[in-house]
Amino acid sequence: MNRAEEDYMKVIYELTVQAKQPIVKTNELSVHFGYTDQSVNEMIKKLESKKLVSFIPYHGVSLTKKGQIEAVRMLRAHRLWEVFLTEKLGFAWEDVHVDAERLEHNSTEMLLNRLDDFLEHPKFCQHGNPIPNRDGYISSFSTLSLAEIDEGEQFQITRVVDDKELLVFLNENQLQLNEIIDVVKLDMFNGLMHIKKRQQTIILSFKTAHMIFGQRMP
Ligand SMILES: [Zn+2]
Repeated sequence: MNRAEEDYMKVIYELTVQAKQPIVKTNELSVHFGYTDQSVNEMIKKLESKKLVSFIPYHGVSLTKKGQIEAVRMLRAHRLWEVFLTEKLGFAWEDVHVDAERLEHNSTEMLLNRLDDFLEHPKFCQHGNPIPNRDGYISSFSTLSLAEIDEGEQFQITRVVDDKELLVFLNENQLQLNEIIDVVKLDMFNGLMHIKKRQQTIILSFKTAHMIFGQRMP
């Protein structure tokens, strides 16, 4: 697989298996990548010929067993490098993506296993995303987004999308993993959510809330 193919595999995995969806529509992939439908369709055909994805016309794409194994291998590499860059080289969580992206495409299995040993087998990256172990096993993680939480409920952040602008927003508001917040008001008309962290009120859009995952507090 070349780099573009590997990136597709990873994104299809995130939008299906990781999001607990059976299938992803090809136009969702076009939106995600910002490519034309035609170039996405060409890539899907190529991946299908390599038996990495199965494609049902007018429905969408899912990964085959072989495809899942490949995608998990890429995610493992990406997230292990993220842990290395943040923990060992002092990168901020919003700055690791580009380098992790390059390193993941150039790591042999032996290098990754050594890296995993060196880091003492981390289960999650700094964004709270699970790191598959060498057998492909993934620890459980939250798929409940903040956007699904009602007024008056409490929520603990355990995972965020690795998106630079989101991470900068979280930094500015000192929102970190494991933080517990109160949802104080839903402004449906404007698409805004008012949350409270200790005494501080923070206003965010539902779009942002959809990128933050965690658990309802009892
Ligand atoms: Zn990450």
